[in-house]
Amino acid sequence: MNQIGDQYAANQADLFISDLHLCASRPHITKAFLTFLNSTAKEARALYLLGDVFEYWAGDDDLVSHQDVVDGLRDLADSDVAVYLMHGNRDFLIGDAFCTAAKLKLLPDPCVIDLHGVRTLISHGDALCSDDLDYQAFRLKVRDKNWQTAFLQRSLTERKEQIAAMRARSELEKSHKASGIMDINPQTLNQLLRDHDYPERVIHGHTHRPMQHDLSLDGHAITRWVLADWYEQGSYLTSDAGGCHYQPIGQT
Ligand code: MN
Repeated sequence: MNQIGDQYAANQADLFISDLHLCASRPHITKAFLTFLNSTAKEARALYLLGDVFEYWAGDDDLVSHQDVVDGLRDLADSDVAVYLMHGNRDFLIGDAFCTAAKLKLLPDPCVIDLHGVRTLISHGDALCSDDLDYQAFRLKVRDKNWQTAFLQRSLTERKEQIAAMRARSELEKSHKASGIMDINPQTLNQLLRDHDYPERVIHGHTHRPMQHDLSLDGHAITRWVLADWYEQGSYLTSDAGGCHYQPIGQT
């Protein structure tokens, strides 16, 4: 392909990432993300952040703790790349102030987008892990608007303490859970696909099990792409007119 052709293809690519789990204790991941925003992502048509960008999010009044990430995202949006964010199970308290400061658009989970004519359902993926009943009960509680309003009324220090306690409990519980419980439930996925009129493609994160799955449901061929985390694995998914493929971080 000639140089003009290459540029055309690159400008048409949509990039998907999730589960970066950015936090102060892993500065190299934040650095890798800022480099990604300032290089690979700048060549894209759009960047989709499908949840758990941050290890936790205590509220938008803590935005200054992640000013470098906010600046990097805003700079990308100013370079005419559309940036979209979906909540994950760790950063579901990201609100309007963050989205405005970072110049990105918050998407509902799930939603269906058109990628070069391919109907693609995107989701963080935690709602699909329906075998984990404890987690689903927790999710129902913390996604409730009243719970969130009450939580956000506490001081930032109190919220961070409570989040630290919840994370410690979750890590402990996870160590006792069978690994299958923490993967998606196929029936729950199938129902979601039927409810959305059989999209041709699904992209989600959360499980940290990057893989392409080809499935057939009620006579429909559907491809499911699972995104990688960034602190143990590290890749992004790129979608263009030719389809989807994984790319290691740091390569284009
Ligand atoms: Mn997650």
